[in-house]
Amino acid sequence: MQLKIFIDRLKQGKEVIIEETLKGACLVDDPELTFPPNVEVSGRAYLANAYLVVRLELQATAILPCKICNANVPVAISIKNFHHIKPIAKIPSSVYDCLEEVRQAILLETPNFAECRQGNCLERKALGRYFAKDMSKSQKVHHPFAQMDDADKK
Ligand SMILES: [Zn+2]
Repeated sequence: MQLKIFIDRLKQGKEVIIEETLKGACLVDDPELTFPPNVEVSGRAYLANAYLVVRLELQATAILPCKICNANVPVAISIKNFHHIKPIAKIPSSVYDCLEEVRQAILLETPNFAECRQGNCLERKALGRYFAKDMSKSQKVHHPFAQMDDADKK
């Protein structure tokens, strides 16, 4: 998979419109993090003096495991202003592939953790209830003088 920009087509101040749908699988090789097939890339490329300028909008959906119950959680990734500037002298052929820059930009925006149901994982609630019960039990145990006070009053 490549995201090719043909430098020759940009000569004499021309712009190239970029509209691509990338295969998500080309972004990462990690069983914990996957991207469904539709990574939308749109924008334009042009030359400014001795530089290639690429301006893109990136839309992707990352699938991460919920940190509590391990269910798959879709996380929308939206990058409105992706910029990449490259000196033309550093582009050895007349074709520039900016897939790697796009890949890194999307990975930087991807969170390390996710939780299902917008942060209200059902298993988190179950854990919360368990802890609440446990607390009230321990409070009873830690008041050994309560009964002594009662005995003094009698
Ligand atoms: Zn969950």
